Amino acid sequence: MEQRDVLIIGGGITGLASAWWLARGGLSVEVWEANERAGGKIMSTRQDGYLTERAASMVLNFRPEVAELVREAGLEPAKTSRLPAAEARRYLLHQSSLKALPMRMGAMMASPLWSLRGKMRLLAEPFIFSSGRPDETVSEFITRRLGREVLEKAIEPFIAGTLAADPDRTSAAAALPRLTALEQRYGSLAAGVMVNRILRRRTACTTDTFSFRCGMGTLVESLARTPGITVRTGYSADELAREPDGGWRAAATTPQGRQVLSARHVIVATPAPAAAALVAHVDGELAELLRGISYAAVTVVHAGLARDAVGHPLDGTGFLAPRGESAILTGNLWMSTLFPDRAPPRKVLLTSYLGGVRAPQVADWSDERLADETIGALRPLLDITADPEMIRIDRHSEALPVYHGAYQARMQAITARLKQASGLHLEANYRGGVSVRDRLARSHAVANQILAAQQWPSVERKRCVVSGNSDGVVAQPGVIY
Ligand SMILES: Cc1cc2nc3c(=O)[nH]c(=O)nc-3n(C[C@H](O)[C@H](O)[C@H](O)COP(=O)(O)OP(=O)(O)OC[C@H]3O[C@@H](n4cnc5c(N)ncnc54)[C@H](O)[C@@H]3O)c2cc1C
Repeated sequence: MEQRDVLIIGGGITGLASAWWLARGGLSVEVWEANERAGGKIMSTRQDGYLTERAASMVLNFRPEVAELVREAGLEPAKTSRLPAAEARRYLLHQSSLKALPMRMGAMMASPLWSLRGKMRLLAEPFIFSSGRPDETVSEFITRRLGREVLEKAIEPFIAGTLAADPDRTSAAAALPRLTALEQRYGSLAAGVMVNRILRRRTACTTDTFSFRCGMGTLVESLARTPGITVRTGYSADELAREPDGGWRAAATTPQGRQVLSARHVIVATPAPAAAALVAHVDGELAELLRGISYAAVTVVHAGLARDAVGHPLDGTGFLAPRGESAILTGNLWMSTLFPDRAPPRKVLLTSYLGGVRAPQVADWSDERLADETIGALRPLLDITADPEMIRIDRHSEALPVYHGAYQARMQAITARLKQASGLHLEANYRGGVSVRDRLARSHAVANQILAAQQWPSVERKRCVVSGNSDGVVAQPGVIY
């Protein structure tokens, strides 16, 4: 039977980045990926001259270890930063038209988007007492601290647009960990943001929104090609067991028949349902906790149009749609404004996100209906006068884990169970954040944990203060991931 220091089951960004950190630390690593290609949800596709993203379309980074991975993996020359035109504005669908979201407190106070009452309520934030309830929902937390208007016009579209979830059922501590941490630490979000701005200036951690010239696929493809990492595609793991010596043995169904491998550590980097099936014979309680995590389906509709068929200036990142404004669409990104070479010259690429828990029925719609409904919704908002010349549809049945219910308690229980199973690690986007930034940062943390257990030198680097958003509370809703 073959042996490795670490076996990683699941070749999405979490699994591949974990492999990269571990190989860099000198360990022998093998990744098993069930699909024919590694990369998981992340995939970039060229179609008729347009570059589309199946899932993540950008990284919003403020963590030094993420910058380090991009640099050390040799990806700096392939990187492309957000174009200045896209930085200018983020829009919100409000009363059936697009309104620029104020990104600073001063602009918000002058904006007609918020009522006078809503603005006064916002100013009261520093004087609100902490609740101390660990199971507050996003709606309860935001309404208590910032008022109902901020919830409906900013946070609900942010939660639906970036997490596909419902703030009335989503755990605040799980979905907005930086905001809830600010309250716990400083008693107020405004005070916390101010303190963090000062600290961040000292640690010189800057925010960088980027992708790659050939799309996000570059990131996963480069990591999968790293020398020292063996990536086996078409390997669907279906068995995991403890070895008498304390290590782990896993088996997979593969095109070459059944394959077995033993390793000191196993990282299960699959979505929760697949992880539950794998650990069922190791720890039934752990499997039950994983089975309780539900996922939302999201459908992505990419539309390519001639520039002169769109009347709107497309002078920003795109827009988010609150639940009262759109029954199916949660957001729309203006990809050709965001990054270069997303569309041919004199064309634009608009990427829409539909479904989530707001509209689960969308997952069953035909391609024709999806295209018609999407363009029908965009037409009046963006002043579209011709049909798209390119439509591409990407469907995700298990797009994102929804942090509904007592999610933090579930995560704590999972962590407690894992303490009984040394050498077994669960790492994927249901633990520690869905964004690519969080995935890269968590993979760095799990690699360090393994290297420490093996008494190998850690790949730890100086950390920066990450509680709070560099743009401040007001900007939070406009930030995508
Ligand atoms: C529509 C959409 C848009 C998004 N946009 C952004 C964005 O702009 N910015 C951002 O930061 N994030 C974004 N995200 C989030 C981000 O893309 C995901 O959270 C992240 O890619 C998940 O990575 P992962 O490795 O945890 O999981 P996955 O990518 O799901 O990888 C898990 C892998 O495990 C494999 N697997 C499962 N079972 C087995 C088994 N038994 N054996 C072997 N392999 C198995 C699967 O085939 C898969 O490849 C978006 C997500 C979606 C869905």
